[in-house]
Parts: sequence; structure tokens; C-alpha cells
Amino acid sequence: MGICYSKAAMSERIYLDNSATTQVDERVIEVMTPCFRQHYGNASSVHLFGQDARRVVDDARRGVAALLGADTRDVVFTSGGTESDNWSLWGAWRAAGGRPGAHFITTRIEHPAILTTCKAMEAAGAEITYVSADASGRVNPMAIEEAIRDTTLLISVMHANNETGVIQPIREIAEIARRRGVPLHADAVQSAGKIPVNVEELGVDMLSLSAHKFHGPKGIGILYIRKGTKLASYMTGGSQERKRRAGTENVPAMAGFGMAAILAAEHLTEMAERVGGLRDRMERHILAKIGGARINGSDETGARLPNISNVSFDRLEGEAAVIALDLENVAVSTGSACASGSLDPSHVLTAMGLRPEVVQGSLRFSLSRLTTESEIDRALEILEAVIERLRRLRRQG
Ligand code: PLP
Repeated sequence: MGICYSKAAMSERIYLDNSATTQVDERVIEVMTPCFRQHYGNASSVHLFGQDARRVVDDARRGVAALLGADTRDVVFTSGGTESDNWSLWGAWRAAGGRPGAHFITTRIEHPAILTTCKAMEAAGAEITYVSADASGRVNPMAIEEAIRDTTLLISVMHANNETGVIQPIREIAEIARRRGVPLHADAVQSAGKIPVNVEELGVDMLSLSAHKFHGPKGIGILYIRKGTKLASYMTGGSQERKRRAGTENVPAMAGFGMAAILAAEHLTEMAERVGGLRDRMERHILAKIGGARINGSDETGARLPNISNVSFDRLEGEAAVIALDLENVAVSTGSACASGSLDPSHVLTAMGLRPEVVQGSLRFSLSRLTTESEIDRALEILEAVIERLRRLRRQG
């Protein structure tokens, strides 16, 4: 295989794009490796090889359920956040007969896993209301309530936004949803492992999670489905996952996910205190040392994930800055990994009402529990120099 980045080169790089994905924790790799060498049975087989693999799956499910305060029977493994999001929407519609005119409520700031699915459902005859966010990046629960119709089958609102880190008022929305008899799905892909995510405290009926956002492997997630929630299967085939999600169990990935969830629970205080502290210090430094910078997303309420910072810089082209920083070994992004490369302006910042030039000049820095103080110091030095250089070139150009 032709991967040729030297270890030395990698170790000099500073990774501040943890909202796109994270480095897999060594302890996660340790529990995954024996699944390839020893526990390679099919978890649905009756023999000892199968029983062995089944034990791994059961342990993993317990680890993930504990992170969410959920009943293990309500936790269904999927191939990741995208599948879980797709399933919640299509599954709710199909469970209700899949009739045209069925109504769904979501927001303009969701991940494409929700928004693109909603567009596909609209093309298939569903009606979707897209609720906006205010200038601080927060969705108003009253706007959700006003959008509810007799035909509303599901409300889907993300727990925390992947571009700004702004935490949404899920508990308030859940109260409204329950009072009005409409189930609520929350995409908690970015919030899990960063802040407490407890399905009872949040009051959600469904919730999506993805392991690779908190030091687990890629290609594995779960959909939490509260008992009694009406949801048709999305993947049909064998009777895995208690007949709810067909497909041979991805035992190594499940094992890794279970361990990543246990570690995430152990590191929540560190995320809030050390990582949150680093992020705040980084923002203070940027605001003090780089002219024309502003932080996007609510901060007076403190309602942001501790690891994300979305900053707009005047007189800067965000995409050019990403490339210039990459050349200096600092990895950041302009928004979500799915949107970057498309050069489309961020739909999240646009929905917050930011002017196009402010949207274009935005960068997302996302930290993890592996981010160190010296990396932030070095990244800030490089950032200052890169922005100064790009602004100078712009003046001359
Ligand atoms: N939802 C949110 C909020 C995300 O940030 C992402 C990934 O970027 C996803 C869903 C998709 O998850 P996955 O990469 O596991 O498909």
C-alpha cells in the first residue's frame, strides 16, 4: 500500500479538525485487534466462535448504552451517523404508511445526512418544514412548536452543531414534542463524548451517534430507539439487531465503539475543563492579536461544545487560509468535512444570517482530548503569520 507519510512528518503536524474525525485511541485499537485474530466468528452463529463474537457485541452495546444512560435493548448498531439519521426519517415515514403529504420538521442548520435526506423525501412526496436558527446559532423551541401540524410524523433537531458547536435546546423541544404527541429525533454525533448526552434527561425518542467522532473507528454508529417508537426497518435482510437492522455484525468496529464510549465517559470532565479551557484561551488570543476576528455562535449563554471554535476573519478567504495553514502543517477546515471542497458557502452560518463575506472568511478549529497546549500555542503563531500574509497579498492583489 502506497502510504508514505513519514512518522516524523506526521508528528510535526497539528490536527485541529476533530469535528471531521478523530485519531483512534490506542486502547480502542487494542480491543479491536483480537476481533480480527480470535473473535472472528459470525455473532449470529450458534457455535462457540459465534458465541464468542456475540459476547463482544453484547459488551460493546453495554458500553454505548452506559454513555447514553439508555436501556441496551434500545441501542441498535448501524454503519454510522449518516445511516442512523437516514433511518430515523425514512423509518418514521414508512412506519406510518409512507403516504404523500406526511409532514416532518427539521432545521436549516442540520448536517447533510438530515438535510439531503429531507430533500429526497420531499421529492418522494413528504412535506418538510425547515426551521431557522437565530444569529447565535440557536433554534427557537417556539418556532418548532408553531410548525407542528396534525400530519407531523417526526421532529429532527441536532443536539450540537458540527460547524459552530452551538448546543440546541433539545430538552425544551422534547417537552413540546411530548405534549403534542410527536416523536423527536436528535443527531448527537458531535455532542457525544464532548458533553453529557443522556437520553432520559434529554427526553428524546431517537438519537444518532457515530464512533469516529470520539476516538473510535469509522463506519460504526448507533440509533437509539426508545421502546414504543414507531420505526420501520431501513436495512432489510437477516434478523440481526433483534430484527431491526439486517447485516452481519461488524464485530471489530462494535468492540472499538464500546471501548471508545467507555473512554468518552471517563474523559467528559477533561473535555469540559482542560479542552474547554484551551479552546477559550485560543479564542481570547485570536480576538486580542488578530484584528477583524469574531467568534460565530452563541457564547453569552455558554451553550457551545467545549472543543469547537468557528471564527470569521475580515478580509480573508477561508478556503485560501485552510490551504495556507495546511502547508504550514496545521489542519483546520472552513466548515463540515462534507461541505469543504465544494466551495459552497456554509449553510449553517448563512442560516444564522451572517453576511456572505463573513461566511467566506470563516474557519473552524476543533480540538480533542489529544490536543495539547503547545500545539495550540504553535498553531496560533502560525495562524497569525498566515492571516497577516494573506491579507497583505490581498491588499497588493
Ligand atoms: N451528523 C453530524 C452532526 C455530523 O457531524 C456527521 C459527520 O460529520 C454526521 C452526522 C455523519 O456521521 P458519519 O460520518 O458517521 O456518517
